[in-house]
Amino acid sequence: MFDKILVANRGEIACRVIKTAQQMGIRTVAVYSDADANALHVEMADEAIHIGPAPSRESYLVMENIIAAAQQSGAQAIHPGYGFLSENAAFCQLCAAHNLVFIGPPVGAIEAMGSKSAAKTIMETAGVPLVPGYHGENQDAAFLQQVADEMGYPVLLKAAAGGGGKGMRQVWAADEFTEALAAAQREAMNAFNDDIMLVEKYLTQPRHVEIQVFCDQHGNAVYLAERDCSVQRRHQKVIEEAPAPGMTPELRQQMGEAAIAAAQAIGYAGAGTVEFLLDSDGAFYFMEMNTRLQVEHPVTEMITGQDLVEWQLRVAAGETLPLAQEAISINGHAVEVRIYAEDPDNDFLPATGALTFLQTPPENTHTRVDTGVRQGDAVSVYYDPMIAKLITWDEDRTRALQRMARALADYRINGVTTNIRFLQRLVSCQPFIDAELDTGFIEKQRALLFPQHTGLSEQEHLRAVAMAGLILILLQKQQSASYHNPHDPHSPWQQHDGWRLNAAALQPFTLALPNTAQQLVIAVEDLGAGNKDSHKGYRLRFDGHEIDACGTLDAHTLHSTINGYRTQTAIAEHAGVYTLYTPNGPFPFSTVEPDLGEADATAGDNSLSAPMNGTIVTLLADAGSTVAAGDALLVMEAMKMEHTIRAPAAGIVTEFYFQPGDLVDGGAELLAFELSTAEEAA
Ligand code: ADP
Repeated sequence: MFDKILVANRGEIACRVIKTAQQMGIRTVAVYSDADANALHVEMADEAIHIGPAPSRESYLVMENIIAAAQQSGAQAIHPGYGFLSENAAFCQLCAAHNLVFIGPPVGAIEAMGSKSAAKTIMETAGVPLVPGYHGENQDAAFLQQVADEMGYPVLLKAAAGGGGKGMRQVWAADEFTEALAAAQREAMNAFNDDIMLVEKYLTQPRHVEIQVFCDQHGNAVYLAERDCSVQRRHQKVIEEAPAPGMTPELRQQMGEAAIAAAQAIGYAGAGTVEFLLDSDGAFYFMEMNTRLQVEHPVTEMITGQDLVEWQLRVAAGETLPLAQEAISINGHAVEVRIYAEDPDNDFLPATGALTFLQTPPENTHTRVDTGVRQGDAVSVYYDPMIAKLITWDEDRTRALQRMARALADYRINGVTTNIRFLQRLVSCQPFIDAELDTGFIEKQRALLFPQHTGLSEQEHLRAVAMAGLILILLQKQQSASYHNPHDPHSPWQQHDGWRLNAAALQPFTLALPNTAQQLVIAVEDLGAGNKDSHKGYRLRFDGHEIDACGTLDAHTLHSTINGYRTQTAIAEHAGVYTLYTPNGPFPFSTVEPDLGEADATAGDNSLSAPMNGTIVTLLADAGSTVAAGDALLVMEAMKMEHTIRAPAAGIVTEFYFQPGDLVDGGAELLAFELSTAEEAA
């Protein structure tokens, strides 16, 4: 076994690999960019070596720097994690050339699977079933369109070099083909420096079911059951679970054996995943093989009781597989959600920011948190915006989902927009509980997953307002207590209970609720005013309601009793906005009056400013041209995704402020736009 390995990655997967290496008594070397100098993976590793500036192209993707770091540290092997160099054949070769073990498959296997088209050809020969389509060399646009026309729509365009859903476009009708092809090629060129496309029949209701395989260097191969990753947004997994709901032992064996045939067709060794589309009739089709550890490997670990990183290290060191096929069994059910810095209500646009408040659910045999960040860390524009993976396990699916809902309610983040609330709705909505799964799940369940209201019932909302009022009172008390002069406790200047002669002690607080653009005045009566011995709490009056509240506030928790209902609720504050983490979602409020009027006025045309920092890719209209509502005006790229900016209404683009290639800041005005007058429009 190795005694020192280098982990050529960052974030949660670097931390994950380091953890197992440490348990096995293997020393670890981390690498880091400028942006990651204080990152968790750097702190966890025994040693860490700086490899360049923040952009991954200048650090985590620079093979020579990583090889040099391995040599300098005396590491014998390199674990690439996922993403970055994990499926890069040239890097695998470079490791060999420098006498370093690449913890992954042999170079030939990576090469074989590196291109989705070449992979399909190999699998065809090995007798693995394929989705119908074209995966040949002819890339002529007219020819590809002809293929699509003949196959019939919808079709899916995929980048041969693709991954992470990039360079992929659905085409629903012939007249959309040209624009979709150009966009897919552009995205592919950008992400992979290669724009070769394949065309596939687009299955409309498939499930994504993948098989975890493992092979050693002695010809042994096993499969460790399957994972269902059907719940996706932008063809990217959001929830993964194991085993797949409804899977039969017969189908598992068939798919498992097909996956092993796929792995053996390319002389595989190490951990690999064979992805299939499973059609509603039980037919399954090979999609691709990922020649690395998957993001979602923890669900397999939870149901098999195996540590897949340990298996990887053993296989890479030349050992035989730890278990034979018969010895691999499944216990219970595991679910994983990916917690992202992103805005589900804004087409899942990636978000950035500092994690000013971070509280994770307690970890135990049922709940696991794989993360690479701590409170105070930043989610930057440079890397994937995944904050953590949250995994729960129980004896059956229903209970595993219940635990997930609870764990998500206990996952509290402030400072950056996340998908936590969305995930909560997902795991607790009936169609998901009933396992009505297919890859269009999120689209289909839009109404349930993107409700118009905040998610709190009327009663919960009232209780939250009362808690907010109580917090303001308690904060005011704390503040005035800190001004308290111990030498003169009876001074009238020390009174802070709003007490007035011959009147109930009433004090108004104005609350701003940014979620609803609402302001509320809460009149507070101190029920215990003048009675220092037994404090009776407060009576809050707002909007015609009357609520009794009392409680205490410590660092991050409000202990409150609202009309006799006693709870503990986490609370965080950032930039003057307080957030109460109720079991049904966060409830933000502030005392400062935010400029809601203005924000609302611009809400309708905010698509004309850059949604985030990025690069202008192409302009799709001429300055001075008249456009209809919804017309694409320009494409920008941010965080490796393309975003199309569209006309908010009919009008004229009078000027573009940027040209292709220009860098723009989030919020920057991109173009000048004049709305058509009613007469002109008519
Ligand atoms: P990537 O490597 O970019 O992640 P994949 O080929 O693995 O791309 O596909 C990602 C997802 O796209 C799949 O999980 C599935 O939801 C969807 N998908 C891929 N091919 C098809 C197809 N032919 N029909 C329907 N959906 C597909």
